[in-house]
Amino acid sequence: MTTILAHAADPQVRRMASSGGLTKALLAHLLEIGHVDGVVIARSGDGERFRPEFVVTSDPKDVLTPLTNSVYYPISPRQAILDLPPDGRYAATLLPCEAAWLVKIQSTGRLTNVVFKIGLMCNATPNRQWTERLLAGMKQRASRLRSLTYRGEGWPGTVVARSRDGTARRGWVNTWGNNDTEKLISTKCRACRHDNMVGMDMMVCDPWVCPTRKIGNGRTMAHLVSDQALEVVKSAKAAGKIVTEPIADQLFRKQLGQLVRVKRSRRLGPIKPTGATTKPVGRKLRVGLITPALYWGGAERWMLDLARQSTHAIDWTGVACVTKQFRDGTMASLFDSIMPVVEHGREAVQQIAAEADALVAWGAYDLGSLVEGFRGPVVFVGHGSGTFDRTATLQAAPGATHHAAVAEASLEPFLGVVPVKEVEVLHNGIDPQRCVQTVSRADVRKSLGLTDNDFCVGYVGRLVPEKNPVGLARAICRLPKRFKAMFVGGGWDQNRQRDEITEYLGERAIFVDRTEQVGNYYRAMDVFSLLSPREGFSMGMLEAMYCGTACVLTRVGVLPELERLVGKHWETVPTGKNCPREAAAAIARLAALTPKARHKMVSDCKAIVDERFLAHHMAQRWIDYLTRIVHEYTGIAT
Ligand SMILES: Cc1cc2nc3c(=O)[nH]c(=O)nc-3n(C[C@H](O)[C@H](O)[C@H](O)COP(=O)(O)OP(=O)(O)OC[C@H]3O[C@@H](n4cnc5c(N)ncnc54)[C@H](O)[C@@H]3O)c2cc1C
Ligand code: SF4
Repeated sequence: MTTILAHAADPQVRRMASSGGLTKALLAHLLEIGHVDGVVIARSGDGERFRPEFVVTSDPKDVLTPLTNSVYYPISPRQAILDLPPDGRYAATLLPCEAAWLVKIQSTGRLTNVVFKIGLMCNATPNRQWTERLLAGMKQRASRLRSLTYRGEGWPGTVVARSRDGTARRGWVNTWGNNDTEKLISTKCRACRHDNMVGMDMMVCDPWVCPTRKIGNGRTMAHLVSDQALEVVKSAKAAGKIVTEPIADQLFRKQLGQLVRVKRSRRLGPIKPTGATTKPVGRKLRVGLITPALYWGGAERWMLDLARQSTHAIDWTGVACVTKQFRDGTMASLFDSIMPVVEHGREAVQQIAAEADALVAWGAYDLGSLVEGFRGPVVFVGHGSGTFDRTATLQAAPGATHHAAVAEASLEPFLGVVPVKEVEVLHNGIDPQRCVQTVSRADVRKSLGLTDNDFCVGYVGRLVPEKNPVGLARAICRLPKRFKAMFVGGGWDQNRQRDEITEYLGERAIFVDRTEQVGNYYRAMDVFSLLSPREGFSMGMLEAMYCGTACVLTRVGVLPELERLVGKHWETVPTGKNCPREAAAAIARLAALTPKARHKMVSDCKAIVDERFLAHHMAQRWIDYLTRIVHEYTGIAT
């Protein structure tokens, strides 16, 4: 390993850069000599609106600009890296936490297309508010901002804020290291343990500890770890792109040591932004919920059931709703009976976070900015295994300190985002109150126009394409006329779904509007069927089993895991184009069961739910988990 002080040979590049422009000059050189096909770099916004982001480019000109100076703003390179073509060769600049993420994935043989990793020494990334304050201090309106470079124009650098009309305001990051900045750093940085260079080719930093450092004369201190880094530096030097001088490794270690001490004292230190500050000893845990919307969906229902069943152990500080979209009045009032419903956005989250020991979130939004300043654990929960869940997991990553999934199937979206073994699987459970029978089966069937001879296959849930209710209609229309289908529920696509179902089934389709009391309908059915192509852990399936209704289900989501745990007590069918045909055959098999065989099947299912999948079981799993992580985390963060 070698430590050098270096700078770009081009004086313009050196002056425009963060420290000495070594990083820019090396990246441009790597592109020019074809050592890599592209580079993954952070850059400040330069459009109609200021928005820093990670970009991938193969053009050295995109690198050699002040926009790629140190970006002190919470952004993540993960999506850009995950989207890279697998057969290319790329270099990336990474903060140590992101480098650790990448190195972990690469250890499993993936993302090996990132062949050169430059780590930036990092004390902390300030949150958005910090930038807002910086701009306010410069009297620059954020809404008029076009680009912002935090460093450049010499060393240690000037802040330059450019308005959309082209005017530039200059300032100075005079808050480095003071208490104000300490209060405005990202949650994840407060517990940061990323101090080393594992897996990086080289690490760059400011030469704060170097006796030869000179204000105004930019230099980058670089620690070269891999042979590749030594070669790249040698080659750039030979090409006249950089100027280097060796210095003692000890200087690099000294600077790293100082940084480690700051991080350690921060972990142990007295920063008190939001959230409860003492361990919840002798009092209940205080937990807040974050939901993208108060919709009538499975995840909102899950939050509600969890809250209802855990009030003996948890004081719920509130449910914060991120957006105004899809607000369901009934859902809002159900939450309201247990905890404050706080709407909308960041302020709502900050309000429920103020007294909370922990936050539990689900859904796709920028969790990092919502929970900024919160000192406790933030658990992001994965409910499914589709594209939405992947997007949600990626967006939540910068804000979440802990991750949980409702089933093993819901681990998939976490792949490559966090180590899967660190994701806690906490199975769902249902509220038996919803399943209480208040009207006899005979009366419900009569009210729906069903005769004793009819065989009714039902679905309870949202009428939306991703649940594939039309697949069930297509299955039923393959069966004799006495087979009828009942659809209980509504949803944003209700009218279109109902029309399509009616095209297949005509009067054999029965529609029931959304209801909270679903027990009567499950018991009026002969079979429950859920044919969605993807699932996490379906509550509808559990409710049907609890009500003693035999099930035909696509073998997705929790089912393989459940079969491993308790055996198979239902009919499963494949997803895809054969699904309706296979479902029709499975329904016919259930219709042909003897009363004894049928009784055994549904009793087995009921026993499975009774034993471990009721809401109070789920709540206990969550109480145990939250208690554990709050105690562990408080130990770090206070
Ligand atoms: C959030 C943050 C905290 C830092 N903390 C410290 C510190 O405590 N002590 C210290 O000595 N140095 C720290 N640095 C590093 C320092 O600011 C310089 O980036 C480093 O000295 C390299 O200077 P340079 O002139 O060679 O970089 P340049 O030639 O200006 O090139 C910078 C390169 O880094 C990339 N980059 C900019 N921001 C980010 C980002 N957020 N994530 C990933 N890549 C990015 C750019 O795309 C560009 O390619 C930090 C940098 C950042 C972004
Ligand atoms: S978590 Fe650590 S490495 Fe990552 S930005 Fe924060 S302080 Fe830097």
